[in-house]
Amino acid sequence: MKVIIDVAACQGYACCMMEAPSVFDLNEDEGKVILLQENPSEDLRTQVDTAARTCPAKAIRLENG
Ligand code: SF4
Repeated sequence: MKVIIDVAACQGYACCMMEAPSVFDLNEDEGKVILLQENPSEDLRTQVDTAARTCPAKAIRLENG
């Protein structure tokens, strides 16, 4: 699973970070998401999937499933 972030679209809502804190963090100065793991392990799929679905800016995309 590969996580792709559209940083330009990110509005800094931090929903992703709450859903998958080991994968997403927030740069508080810039109000933009920080991707901590580009290729998270399969056991994080549910969390990452939920983060992608709940991102208000639709800035998170998953590849390979
Ligand atoms: S949920 Fe979306 S808009 Fe909010 S910080 Fe994460 S990527 Fe950015």
